[in-house]
Amino acid sequence: MIARRAIIIKLPKDKCDVNYILRLMALANLVYRGYEIWAPDLPKTIQHQLYNFKNYMESLVFGTTPKKWLVSVWVPLKTLRIYTDGSRKGDIGAPVVFDFKSNVIKLHQICGNKRGYVVAIPMPKWVIERVKEGGDVKYAMIGLKNNEPYLALVTEREVESYQSSGYKLVIDVNAWNNGVAYGIINPNNRIAEYSPLRPNLRLIDTWYHKAEKLSKKLGKLKRLGLGSTLETERLKREINMLRKKVYAHLRDFAQKKAHELALKAIRLRAEVLIDDMIEESRKELIEEKIPTGLRKIYLAETRRFVKLLVTQLQWYGVPHRFKRLPSTICPICGSELTQLPGRIMVCGNCGFNAPRDKVPIYWVLKISTVLHY
Ligand SMILES: [Zn+2]
Repeated sequence: MIARRAIIIKLPKDKCDVNYILRLMALANLVYRGYEIWAPDLPKTIQHQLYNFKNYMESLVFGTTPKKWLVSVWVPLKTLRIYTDGSRKGDIGAPVVFDFKSNVIKLHQICGNKRGYVVAIPMPKWVIERVKEGGDVKYAMIGLKNNEPYLALVTEREVESYQSSGYKLVIDVNAWNNGVAYGIINPNNRIAEYSPLRPNLRLIDTWYHKAEKLSKKLGKLKRLGLGSTLETERLKREINMLRKKVYAHLRDFAQKKAHELALKAIRLRAEVLIDDMIEESRKELIEEKIPTGLRKIYLAETRRFVKLLVTQLQWYGVPHRFKRLPSTICPICGSELTQLPGRIMVCGNCGFNAPRDKVPIYWVLKISTVLHY
């Protein structure tokens, strides 16, 4: 199986011509649509390699055909890799050159429409790590995000999943207010470890409520016709900053935990079972009458967490599958469970009780027992 991982890197704005990149993106958009138009003032080398991509467009990791006209399409680029031992891989004429000897990435004529225009950026640590793991940076893409130039790198690696040691790592993905719960089941079919992982909810709630309060104040000023004073500008900036902080915190948390869980699986040579309960969590949040804004925050980055986790499991050859595991049905007798305060689930029939997010782990135990005996 081929596993892939990607990263995006901000390019120096002062060295990259945004309008030129925009034109290349427009050209890439046409290529995706099957048109071949040669712009006379753009470098032939870049256009040639863009049209070369047509032949294996479907197989590209760069995504599917853009749905809307004039949607922004990142420009796919070939790469040349020069390793420390002097060996080379890739296309000699590629516009993106990875020089592992001097630890730089050189971008030829993609940051500016000038003959021989080269921008060199330092080699990211991420690339060096992926290459050490046997990865190869076959493709790159250049594009704009919020009008800022970025380089996207895609590493590929041929992997085979390892044979599980009998350990199971069960990961239950919920909205952040309940968090991601994980449980480790050892080869003797016992729960060896169980823990919910939650971001700093107190901090998130504080930032959210502060932003809400300031938004109300801003709304009041706007209604009074004071929408563009120094005071309102300051309020807007502060609200933006608070919201950014919330999302940055969640993004960071999702990234760290996905990595930690992948490493945990590798260390135990465990098989990973993922129960993606994001939809169920969404309904639960509505039932609990959580305000829309906070609901959005609690669900933000949960999909990305799953994607990050799966990407890393694939990359490291960890056997994994998605499995829906009930959290409201008794794993002992099959009766409906009742929820008590504090999200404790209780069975009225047999007396089983457990925290709601731990019930799925008991289900894995039950399923494994049935399979073993
Ligand atoms: Zn029961």
